[in-house]
Amino acid sequence: MADYVIAIDQGTTSSRAIVFDHSGSIVSTGQLEHEQIFPKAGWVEHDPNEIWNNTREAIGQALSKANLTRHDIAAIGITNQRETAVIWDKNTGEPVYNAIVWQDTRTQDIVDRLAADGGVERFKKTVGLPLATYFSGTKIVWILENVEGARERAEAGDLLFGTTDTWVLWNLTGGVEGGVHVTDVTNASRTLFLNLETLEWDDEILAAFDVPKSLLPTVKSSSEVYGHADSHSLLRETPIAGILGDQQAATFGQAAFDKGEAKNTYGTGNFLIFNTGEDIIHSENGLLTTIGYKIGDQPTHYALEGSIAVTGSLVQWLRDNLGLISSAAEVEELARGVEDNGGAYFVPAFSGLFAPYWRSDARGALVGLTRFVNKGHIARAALEAIAYQTAEVLDAVNADAGVDLTELRVDGGATANDLLLQFQADILGVPVVRPVVAETTALGAAYAAGLAVGFWKDTDDLAKNWQEDKRWEPSMDKGERDRLYRNWKKAVTKTFDWVD
Ligand code: ADP
Repeated sequence: MADYVIAIDQGTTSSRAIVFDHSGSIVSTGQLEHEQIFPKAGWVEHDPNEIWNNTREAIGQALSKANLTRHDIAAIGITNQRETAVIWDKNTGEPVYNAIVWQDTRTQDIVDRLAADGGVERFKKTVGLPLATYFSGTKIVWILENVEGARERAEAGDLLFGTTDTWVLWNLTGGVEGGVHVTDVTNASRTLFLNLETLEWDDEILAAFDVPKSLLPTVKSSSEVYGHADSHSLLRETPIAGILGDQQAATFGQAAFDKGEAKNTYGTGNFLIFNTGEDIIHSENGLLTTIGYKIGDQPTHYALEGSIAVTGSLVQWLRDNLGLISSAAEVEELARGVEDNGGAYFVPAFSGLFAPYWRSDARGALVGLTRFVNKGHIARAALEAIAYQTAEVLDAVNADAGVDLTELRVDGGATANDLLLQFQADILGVPVVRPVVAETTALGAAYAAGLAVGFWKDTDDLAKNWQEDKRWEPSMDKGERDRLYRNWKKAVTKTFDWVD
C-alpha cells in the first residue's frame, strides 16, 4: 500500500492540502488564501471557483514539495468550513451565487419568519439546532428567494446544493462529467434539515423551508469510499474516503473518540466539541446537539458543541480594521506590555452572540474604559475575550454533562499564543493541553479516509499517535478569577438589544 494519506482542509480563510504519514506526522503542506468578500455589513461571501482552483493548486503544492505522485497516496480525506452554502448548476458546474459563509447574518428575516410559528427552537428536537442565521439551510432559502431564476431552476432539478466538502468532492470526482453529489453526516447535521436519529433529510422541515429535496446531496458516513478522483486530477483514481466538518475533524484528529472526551479549537471562531457517545443529549444550556462522527456502518457518535463566532477573527480585526498590529502573532507582544486588562473588557459580538447566548441582536462592545487604558490593554482584553467566551461554553458543557471536564485539549491557529493559553488555564482553573500535531483538523480528515481503506486499522491504532506538546497549569487565585469572570459577564449584558 501507498505510504501516505492526503487531507484537503477547505477552511474559512484558506484551502490547504496536507500529506500525512502512518504516524500522523505532517510530510508536506500546500496552502492558498482566498478573498473574503464583504458586500454589506453582516454579509460574508467566498467565490466557489476560487476555492476549487485553490484546492487543486494546494494539492499540487503538497505533492511536489515532498516529491510525491498519486501512487504514493492511499486515500483522500476532506474537511471543511461547515455551514457555508454553495448552489450550482449541475449541467454547467457554475455557481448561481457566491458561497454564503457561516458568519453571514443576512438571513435574519428568514429566521424570524420561520420562528414566528413555534419559536427558534421549533425544530430543535429533530435536528439539535435552534433556528439561526449560522446554519446552511437558511442560506439556501436566501439564494432561492433572491437569485433570479434560482427557484425555477431548482424546481426543475438543475441545481445542486453543497457545503464546501460537497463542492470540492463533486468537482474532484469529475464535476459535470459524473461528479459525486454526497456529504457526510457531520456536515448534514449543520443544515437544520437532518433528522439526528434516522440520519435522513426531514421532509416536514424541508416543506417548512420550501426547499426542494432534489437540491440536497446524499448523506453518507464520515469514513467510506465516496468516489475516486477523476482523470483530470493529479490524484486520478485515488479514493476519496473520508469527510468530516472542520470541528468534528479536529475532534477526530485529537483522538477524542470516546464519550466524555472533548477538544477546543481556536481559529477564526472557537468551537468546543464534547463527545456524548451514542447518546443524543439535548442541551439545557445553549449548546448545539450535533453529529460527532460515523465510521462506515458503525454506530453514530453524537456531540454537544459550543460555537463562538468571533475569537481569532477579533485579532484579525485589530490588525486589519484598527491597524493596531501588523500580524496576528504581534498581539501577544502588545498584550505582554501591560500587566492586566486595565479594567477593559471587549465583547466581540460582531455576528451577534453564539453559544451559550444565541443573541442575534447583540453587537460588539468595549467597556470599562478610562484615560488609563492603552492599546496594550485593548490587545489584552481581546485575548481575554477568547478565554472568557470559552469558559462560558465549558460551564454549559459541565452543566449539561453533569461532570466537570478535568483538562482541555486545544488546537488551532491561536494556540500559538502562550499568553492566551496561560490565561485560559487560569480562568478555567483546569490545565490546557496542546498536542504535537496542531493541524488536528486536517489530521482528522486524513484519519477518516485512512480508516476506510485500511491504512489505519481502527481508532485504537490512531489514539497511539496522540502526543502531548505543551501543558499550561492554572496559577491564578480564585478571588481574582471570580472577579474577572463576573466583570466579563456584566460586559456581555451591555451588548444586547443593538439591532433596531
Ligand atoms: P481557520 O481554520 O478558522 O481559518 P486557523 O486555525 O488557521 O483558523 O487560525 C487562524 C486564526 O488564528 C486567525 O483568526 C488569527 O487571527 C488567529 N491567530 C493566529 N496566530 C495568533 C496568535 N499568535 N495569537 C492570537 N491569534 C492568532
